[in-house]
Amino acid sequence: MNYIGIDIGGTQVKIGIVDEHGAVGKSSAYDVAFDGYDTPIIDTVITKLSEFMQENRLDNNRIRGIGVSATGQIDTKEGKVAGAAGHIKNWEGCNIRECIKKVYPGPVTVMNDANCAALAEQWIGGVKDAQDAVVVTIGTGVGGGIIANAEILCGTAGGAGEIGHFTIHNNGKRCSCGNRGCYEQYASTTALVRMVNQAQKAGRLKSGLMNSCDINGYTIFEVAGRDSYLDEILDKWIGYVADGLASIIHIFSPKVVLIGGGVSAQQEKFIEPLRIKVLSRIMPTYAKTVVIEAATLGNAAGMIGAVYYCIKHGKA
Ligand SMILES: [Zn+2]
Repeated sequence: MNYIGIDIGGTQVKIGIVDEHGAVGKSSAYDVAFDGYDTPIIDTVITKLSEFMQENRLDNNRIRGIGVSATGQIDTKEGKVAGAAGHIKNWEGCNIRECIKKVYPGPVTVMNDANCAALAEQWIGGVKDAQDAVVVTIGTGVGGGIIANAEILCGTAGGAGEIGHFTIHNNGKRCSCGNRGCYEQYASTTALVRMVNQAQKAGRLKSGLMNSCDINGYTIFEVAGRDSYLDEILDKWIGYVADGLASIIHIFSPKVVLIGGGVSAQQEKFIEPLRIKVLSRIMPTYAKTVVIEAATLGNAAGMIGAVYYCIKHGKA
């Protein structure tokens, strides 16, 4: 008997078959932003879920449950979107569980995407053997999932782990959440790209290395080591990432901290210098035990973690 994992992001939804050991079988991805969200994301999800089940001959009796990983602030108890990342129309207030229940009457759970990434690492990835861990996803923003006493920390309604929005600079940069100086305004890949873009516009980078139109998380690391000013920016940015991690480690005392997102593939130029900076900033008792590594699961982590939560907490 299999489960279905659904990972709803701001640009696409992934739907896949996941077995009771966390292995992903057939999966497909579909665009959800094709008309600027005039078609609500959930309508696309329901249409594509029905198609996916038909194509793969999955009738309701052959599926044990559906686990959903979703972008935004998710009320896990209600299975709905409590708050949206500003630019997504028709998303806030959407009751994902109720909508899916109309086409599939079995157990359905809904959880925030960063928490699902942490759950996937707990099930079959890099925090399998840790009772306490933090999984930090660095990308457009900064997301987090906190595992405490072997359970994902949900908070009042599933909103815990929004580590992108604790303040590291009072009176700092304005954030999409309405506050100022949030961690993700300094430590996200978006922030790194913004810093490099500013240097490029000010003519401080060696000419010919990068055009302003192709500055992104990947090209910056490609050029790293060949431009001393760019290396300074990178060092400053890694410092910001380390600032936040030091606080997180002191608060939660995790055994393992995993770093996810595209930039986490940069072992030598990111993960290693980050580890050195963090270890130099935390108290010695923490530094002796904490392990800081790149996340082990890629694109399918959302679906896998969502299914794990459904296995543990889904009710018919
Ligand atoms: Zn914020």
